[in-house]
Amino acid sequence: MQINQHFNELAQSYLFSTVGSRAAAYAAAHPGQKVIRMGIGDVTLPLPGPIIDALHAAVEEMAHKDTFRGYGPDGGYGFLREAIAGYYARRGVGLAPEEIFVSDGAKSDIANILDLFGPDNTVLVPDPVYPVYLDTNVMAGHKVLLARATEENGFLPMPSPGLSADIVYLCSPNNPTGAAYTRAQLAEWVAWANREDAVILYDAAYECFIRDEGLARSIFEVEGARSCAIEFCSFSKIAGFTGTRCGYTVVPAGLERGGMKLAPMWLRRQTTKYNGAPYIVQRAAAAVLTPEGMAAIQQNLGYYRKNAQVLAEALAAAGITYYGGTNSPYLWMKCPGGMGSWEFFDWLLEHAQVVGTPGEGFGECGKGWFRLTAFGGAEETAEAAARMQAALAAFNG
Ligand code: PLP
Repeated sequence: MQINQHFNELAQSYLFSTVGSRAAAYAAAHPGQKVIRMGIGDVTLPLPGPIIDALHAAVEEMAHKDTFRGYGPDGGYGFLREAIAGYYARRGVGLAPEEIFVSDGAKSDIANILDLFGPDNTVLVPDPVYPVYLDTNVMAGHKVLLARATEENGFLPMPSPGLSADIVYLCSPNNPTGAAYTRAQLAEWVAWANREDAVILYDAAYECFIRDEGLARSIFEVEGARSCAIEFCSFSKIAGFTGTRCGYTVVPAGLERGGMKLAPMWLRRQTTKYNGAPYIVQRAAAAVLTPEGMAAIQQNLGYYRKNAQVLAEALAAAGITYYGGTNSPYLWMKCPGGMGSWEFFDWLLEHAQVVGTPGEGFGECGKGWFRLTAFGGAEETAEAAARMQAALAAFNG
């Protein structure tokens, strides 16, 4: 019997489980205190009316013989693939519906895409970043290089001279730093990838938070990306689908490596190992992209943006260095007094009863940094901000 020993090389436990268990232990030991949890980037607002209506209608269809649906079409229902193509078209990006593959979310696609590539590639992963890129490659025993995302480079690593890699992950707007690439910066990555015959795995899960002109919402806004990039996106953050589960991956029809086209390979992979997102969920996702759905979504995004602003103002007032929070739901703050990120995690729990996410959990370069999320309830966020401001101001004293 052979077992995958690479599991031993993983960081001991998944970051968010550790945050959750430490917060729970603190709460159990201090039953009189109200702990505000801002450690996991989950949304808190319910699904808006137009989306719930679409869900109800789809459930009703499942109750009748003539409208009941069983297995769905490969790659997703046409109505959703077309609606997603329309969403891109409104931003000036032309995609064929067949290049869009619907799934149960970005996380599984980001992990599963590795099936398309051989075992001996060199993979470049930003540090810090969403832990799934690193962990899935560690599990597979791949050779991983880290691209340092630091205050000096604006948390946006660029291709260094002589960089050689086969697969590069980019996450923009970034989890956890909140930094987002401009089109000009992405154009440099695209030129590099086309030159090197590399593939960019572009995670756009937070694209809906981008407001600044000049920042890219899709890598396909950049010329040349169709010959080197795959894009992952999700309804989780745009529309509160973290529990409902729906996402999609864009693989351009012409994207080819090693003499093989990646889009048909991805379809083959998905149809072999996955049977598709539920019909009712795909109907709900399509409702997100209607004018009524988008209007409702904008209200929710506005609510979260306001939270980000409240947190940003509190940090500024306490004299804390921070980034993000404008084109992203995350704020990335420097731990005060040279504290390490887990040290600050404990300090913040102790002094403000607020749970955040230690930057170190996203990679070595996150040491001394801390992530706050704007996805909480407005009241709780305001209370957390006030508590943090008071505690940090006293600390900076
Ligand atoms: N990509 C990034 C950068 C994320 O932060 C997350 C979730 O937090 C995901 C992907 C996963 O999204 P989904 O809920 O669609 O699996």
